[in-house]
Amino acid sequence: MHVLIIGGGTGGMCLAHGLKQAGVSVAVYERYAARTDGLYGYRVGIDPTGNRALKECLPPDLFETFIATCARSPKYFNVLTQKMKRTASIPLRDDSDDVNSERSVSRSTLRQLLFTGMEDVLHFGKVFTHYEQRDDGMVTAHFADGTIATGDVLVSAEGTRSAVRAQYLPQAEVKDAGILSIGTKTPLTPETRALLPPEVLNGLSLIFATKGLMGILHVMEFKWDAEGRPKPGIPGADTVARWNGLQYDNTRDYINLSMWTTTDAFPPDVLKQRGADLVRTALAMTGNWDPALRRIFELSDPSAAWAVKIATSVPVEPWEPTNITLLGDAIHTMTPGQGVGANTALRDATLLCRQLTAADRGEKGLLDAIGAYEAEMIPYGFARVADSLSGNGTSGDDPLYKPATRRATLFAARAYFSLTGKIPAFRRKFLADLYTYRGFEES
Ligand SMILES: Cc1cc2nc3c(=O)[nH]c(=O)nc-3n(C[C@H](O)[C@H](O)[C@H](O)COP(=O)(O)OP(=O)(O)OC[C@H]3O[C@@H](n4cnc5c(N)ncnc54)[C@H](O)[C@@H]3O)c2cc1C
Repeated sequence: MHVLIIGGGTGGMCLAHGLKQAGVSVAVYERYAARTDGLYGYRVGIDPTGNRALKECLPPDLFETFIATCARSPKYFNVLTQKMKRTASIPLRDDSDDVNSERSVSRSTLRQLLFTGMEDVLHFGKVFTHYEQRDDGMVTAHFADGTIATGDVLVSAEGTRSAVRAQYLPQAEVKDAGILSIGTKTPLTPETRALLPPEVLNGLSLIFATKGLMGILHVMEFKWDAEGRPKPGIPGADTVARWNGLQYDNTRDYINLSMWTTTDAFPPDVLKQRGADLVRTALAMTGNWDPALRRIFELSDPSAAWAVKIATSVPVEPWEPTNITLLGDAIHTMTPGQGVGANTALRDATLLCRQLTAADRGEKGLLDAIGAYEAEMIPYGFARVADSLSGNGTSGDDPLYKPATRRATLFAARAYFSLTGKIPAFRRKFLADLYTYRGFEES
């Protein structure tokens, strides 16, 4: 069996590793021209579901490198006002367990990690355009450069704007969630470090601001210094030193500060803005925020400023399985509201890997294998799409953004977190729900 994967992102590369490890023939086709293209160094939170998938699919030494290349994990979940007043500061579990831990990961570092050791299966500069299902049961993928590739199975792993999905499931709809976000990256230096109180420096902080604005702040500290050399005396730094992937990655210690609100609150040309103009827009919209937060925007690297329209998807009725299937954002794009899009793509990759491996070994038919994967993936994938839209401020329909309800909703959210932070029983329930959702297993 030969598997074609379109898209060398989180889910596609995890699947490719798993298949390669299982001895299944696989090839990945990625639109970016080179390994160093498309570096987006923002934070992604990998939870136990994602760790478990990576552990299952990656070779053991690469999984060890994954753990070593994560940023140190947040110690607190903070809720802040726009004046940086702490509504709540909830201590989080430590990250001593490889799998049962919450990890802060730089997207570009994860990308480089997943490319490691895959030179023989990865094809860069391949922009997928369309496919043909052939009479002999094979499937042929066509690329913009005029080349083709033929295999037994085609896996769409090319994210929200999947061209495979557009052709295969034209009824599947990706929708604008009505929210736009500006993200910034500010080097972590003695000056920027001094702007943050200890809980914020060591935590992840959600900002509930007035005027229907939200924000999030992550401090990302790695085991290597500004020159990319291992920091002395830090456990795991020697593993990083042995990894050749860092030479392709520009990730260094940074603060990731993002703000978001409904799209109509931004200047109409915001998606065309770049660099310093985007930072100026963020500053203009956050005029009443604490000077330290505004200073972090001011000191950000303009070339890393980024505006993104948040998308979601509409549940699709199950379909008859064929030798084409989808994973991750290509089928169930979700808002970042629960921080589980990448984790769900990794979960898909593991399940699909198990099924395709069983088919390759002759333990079941290919269509049965794909059907079993889809029967499991569709319900949990779209359940997470629904969760991601509900009560977390990543849908434009949230009462946080409606003029009539926004003050009361902000007040209620702050009161909820204030009580959760203060009352041990509430705090325990909040953490238990959070960890269960994110795939923690109690020992
Ligand atoms: C602001 C923000 C914050 C987020 N935070 C989190 C978080 O903390 N935790 C979490 O779990 N999720 C998070 N997510 C969601 C997460 O980023 C996605 O769900 C995840 O990246 C999806 O992985 P994927 O493999 O499906 O697609 P992707 O990782 O997007 O990979 C798709 C790949 O396909 C390639 N491609 C695209 N088109 C083509 C083509 N035509 N031909 C060939 N290749 C193509 C792309 O270049 C890319 O490499 C966040 C999302 C956003 C927007």
